[in-house]
Amino acid sequence: MPQCLIPNCQNNALHNLGIRCRRPATTAIWAPNCNAYLCDEHADQGYEIEIKLTPVNLRTITTHVTAGANVANRTTDIVHNSEE
Ligand SMILES: [Zn+2]
Repeated sequence: MPQCLIPNCQNNALHNLGIRCRRPATTAIWAPNCNAYLCDEHADQGYEIEIKLTPVNLRTITTHVTAGANVANRTTDIVHNSEE
């Protein structure tokens, strides 16, 4: 069972964060899950989320999710093109 990303939380965490880049027709070019989970208590409390894009030209998406000192990193390949 994944651990909740919120510092000092010992609850089981079933809710997985993800991020998506949608085409105008709402299908996704990429939509990886992050390696970050939240428990029931912390999933619906509300957040400020800062998104900082750094171009890498590797056809990968790397996410770094932080909550206090806790960090969750994950890299996935982009398998779709912007126009399909
Ligand atoms: Zn929690």
